[in-house]
Amino acid sequence: MPHRKGVTNLLTVKGVVLTQKPVGEQDKFIDILTDELGVLEVLVKGAGKINSKSGCATQLFAYSAFCLQKGKRGYILNSVSPIRIFYELRSSVTAVALASYFSQIVQFSVLPQASNHEIQRLMLNCLHFLALKKYPEAILKSIFELRMAALLGFMPDVVMCRKCGEYLPDRLHFSIEDGTFCCEECRSEADTLAHSVEMTAGTLQAIRHIVLQDTERVFGFRLSDGCQEALFAFSEQFLQYHIDHRFSALEYYRAIQNPMV
Ligand SMILES: [Zn+2]
Repeated sequence: MPHRKGVTNLLTVKGVVLTQKPVGEQDKFIDILTDELGVLEVLVKGAGKINSKSGCATQLFAYSAFCLQKGKRGYILNSVSPIRIFYELRSSVTAVALASYFSQIVQFSVLPQASNHEIQRLMLNCLHFLALKKYPEAILKSIFELRMAALLGFMPDVVMCRKCGEYLPDRLHFSIEDGTFCCEECRSEADTLAHSVEMTAGTLQAIRHIVLQDTERVFGFRLSDGCQEALFAFSEQFLQYHIDHRFSALEYYRAIQNPMV
């Protein structure tokens, strides 16, 4: 549980800044993803002042320890110390766009007052690898989309062909709607018409890795070129279909990205 100080209306939480919007001349509201209390809106007073102490620790995507005061109208920042700022993100427009897309997904789908340890870990890991720039952004995007879908209760059934039980068919069709797949041999007219993504065994193995591995081990795998496009299409469509929302940051990311960076 978040540590509550002696004064009952102060609490400390560790959180990631998802959005910020200015209020008046000097203040701003930030939304932070906490590990125990869902997403909180916090008023930061004096954020616009030069040399503001809270400046870097409350900027977009910063991970910080926040001490908050609970007022009648919501939370007000009392003090803050940065844990990880992810400065390196800022040198890439596509990385910032992708981090904004992740933030919008979290804001849309995380429940208030809910425990979100796994979602916060996923967000921090993805920000870390985006900032490192040693891993393809498009694969990080697929990892975030599929792990987030699974954490929200939309786990694709990756075990076997739903008709014949084949574990690793050369070619298969993965249904976006019911989250199951069938091999090329078992495919019927109905499957052809249904909303599905055609893929090879390599893409299926990548999907299995992403949804079944521990959080620490999910990053770091490589995919051959022929397997990438189907993974990117499947993860994006699967999450979008099941949480039933389109995100403006995704449209922006698509507009500015260079294919296959
Ligand atoms: Zn089959």
